[in-house]
This record gives sequence, C-alpha cells and structure tokens, in this order.
Amino acid sequence: MTRRDAFQTLWAAPFAAAPALKGLPPLTIKDVKVIATSGGRGYRWIFIKIITSEPGLYGIGSASNHFQTHAVIAAIEKHLAPYLIGKNPDKIEDLWQSGHLRTYWRNGPVNNNVLSGLDMALWDIKGKRAGMPVYELLGGKVRDAVPCYDHCGGNSNEAIVESVQKSLANGFRHIRIQYGGYGGGGFIPKGQGSRPENGHGGTAFDEEQYIDAVPKMFDFVRSKVGFGPKLCHDVHSHLSGINAVEFCRRVQQHQMFFIEDVLSPEQLDWYKQIRQSCTTPQAVGEVFSHPLEFVPLVTQRLIDFVRCRVSAIGGITPAKKLATLCEYHGVRTAFQEGGENDPINQLAAYHVDISHPAFGIQEENAFPPVAQEMLPGCAQIRGGYLYGNDKPGLGIDINEQLAAKHPIQPFTEGGHYRLDRTLDGAVVKP
Ligand code: MG
Repeated sequence: MTRRDAFQTLWAAPFAAAPALKGLPPLTIKDVKVIATSGGRGYRWIFIKIITSEPGLYGIGSASNHFQTHAVIAAIEKHLAPYLIGKNPDKIEDLWQSGHLRTYWRNGPVNNNVLSGLDMALWDIKGKRAGMPVYELLGGKVRDAVPCYDHCGGNSNEAIVESVQKSLANGFRHIRIQYGGYGGGGFIPKGQGSRPENGHGGTAFDEEQYIDAVPKMFDFVRSKVGFGPKLCHDVHSHLSGINAVEFCRRVQQHQMFFIEDVLSPEQLDWYKQIRQSCTTPQAVGEVFSHPLEFVPLVTQRLIDFVRCRVSAIGGITPAKKLATLCEYHGVRTAFQEGGENDPINQLAAYHVDISHPAFGIQEENAFPPVAQEMLPGCAQIRGGYLYGNDKPGLGIDINEQLAAKHPIQPFTEGGHYRLDRTLDGAVVKP
C-alpha cells in the first residue's frame, strides 16, 4: 500500500462505513393521514399523521387554519400525501424545500400550513428515532422553562386592574391588556353615532377615539400596579399610518413590553416613522405566512419581536431560521399562540423557544380537558411558565378515536374571520 492509498483508506473508511443514521434501518413514508377535530370546543384543528415503514413509528404535526380549513385538508390529501409516499422522512430539510417548491407558486397561507404539518411530523419522527425531545436536536435547552404572557381585559379601568392583579397573583410577569376585548376602547356602540341611512348598524371602530382611550387606560393601570408588570397591547392592525405613530408615541411613557401589530401588513414602511418618533417596542407579523416578509423589518431593526405563528410560516424549520436571523440583529421572538391555536403547534413553538437565544416571550394558551385527553402530552402553564415534557419527539400524541368523536362543526358564510367596520360601513383591516 502506498502512502497515498493508506491516507485515503484512513480517511475514507469512517465516512464510507457510516450509514445516514448510524445503527438505524432505512425508513420510508408509508401513509399520510389528516385528523380534523373540533377539540371539543369549536376549534377547526387539522393534524397530519405521517406513518413510517417502521412498525409503530409515526409523527404528528399541526396544519391548522381556522379560516381556510377545507382548503388545507384537500391540499394535504390530494397533493401532499401522494408526493410523500415512499420518501425518506429523515430528510427534513430536503422534504421542506421540495415540499415548498413542489407547488411552483409558494408561501401562501394554505401551503405553509401544509408544510408546517409535514415539518412538525418529521421532527417528531426524528426525535422518536433519536430517543430525544426535539429541543435536544435543536441544540438543547438554553432556559429552564418558557415564560408566557397572560391575557387581561375588562370593560372598565377598575375591571382591568382587577384582572391584572389576578394574573400577577397567578405568577405571570408579562400581561397583555385589551380594553373590553380586541380593538376595545375605540368602538362606538351599536346604533350610536352619525351613520349613513340603512348602513352598518353594529359597533363601529374609530381611530381617533382609540388613540385617545387606550393610552388613558394604561395611565390608570400603571397608576395602580406600577412599572413591575411587563405590559403588552395588540392593536390588531387597526390604525393607519400617522395614527399608528401617534399611538406609539403616547404609550411610550408606560414602558410597554411591546405594542403588537399597530400597522397592517400593507403599511410596513411606517415602522420607520415610528422608530424616528419613539422607543415603544414593536411586535409584528401575526398574519404573515411568508417568513421572508420579516427580513427587511429585522435587518433594518425596525421591529423588536417577530410575532408569527409557527404553523403559519411552515413549521419548526423556518421558525428556527427566523429566530436565528433575529438573534444576529438583536430582535426577539414572540410566537403567536392564542385563540384558535392547537396544542401541537404550541409544543412546536415550545421546542424552538426553549432552545433559542433569540426567544422573547410566548403567548399563553390553555386547552379544555377534552382536548388535553385527546392530545396526551399537552404542554402545561404553571406560574407564568410553559412546560413541555422530556419524551422523545414533540412529546405529544393524538387519540384518534376521541378526535373522531369531536368532528369539526359546520360553519356559516365559509367560516370567515369577523371583520370590524367604521361608522360609514367601510371594512377595517384585521
Ligand atoms: Mg395579535
């Protein structure tokens, strides 16, 4: 053997001998199932179950989309499932990329939900194969548990303070406050105000009234609870350009943890004006589904928190990449979790949150007992912190028989998002 042959043998042997996953047999995707359920409470949850060639080995993921539910189900059953059968589930990044490009047109809210279901299920399988929780595969824990913010509100200042004090007593340090519910404080009651004949008769949103009322509400809350609690507020994209700037300027004195979605996604350039006018931190992007929408906002440091839902942007793989982009620019994550979200998406967010240095805060969400029975392994919130478990994979399973007993309920008018309107009947961006 020449010296060169010996060198090649020495270096080639370990690589040539190493299988793709050491000691584990080859794996293929045998079946892809959709499990749709109301969760026992009127949710429209869509879960993917990817079944592999290894007996008993499967992964589950969240593809939930409350407003285009049946489009997502059809996209999985008719388009994704036939594409996946026979493929290697170990290749998470390749399947994410090819699943992303396979539709030619990409990054819409339906296909990114589909990709999310696929991606989470593949991470679940990978973790089960490795015998490790997903957070270990993402780099391991960088914090002991995941801090969550609570939701508080009320129809009067006194009721709001009472709600905040209750939340503090429960251990929450971060609290989001809405005046009488979403967009509250800026609504003209049903039937009141000067309206067009035969026009919109319901509650009507008024920007100037909102800008006047909500900062005054925070005056009152801060005067009662001080500056210890970290306070947030969600504007739900209801303000237009210069009004958004003025609102953020007025609440600066209240040292907010963040103001969420003060502008609609159609008006992101106004964040430059907000930055020039005040230091109120900005959380942005609840309705983003294209993860690259965040790039200019993060790289120009125009925002402070990315506020998307993990299952809306395509799952754990893009969420981890987005968090890393944030890390390099001093921006933090605040993954969206409330409302109609599901426990599998919550746990997916948990695995990124607990393993990433760019974590900022997680939205709380608690599920009814029937949902927790249906999805054993649900994360738990105690004392303001979210706890997962140390089981391999995502750490959650699904009882399909119980899910089948709680099918998605029929809905009217296509199950649309409820839109607010102004006095003259014009629609308000959500
Ligand atoms: Mg929001």
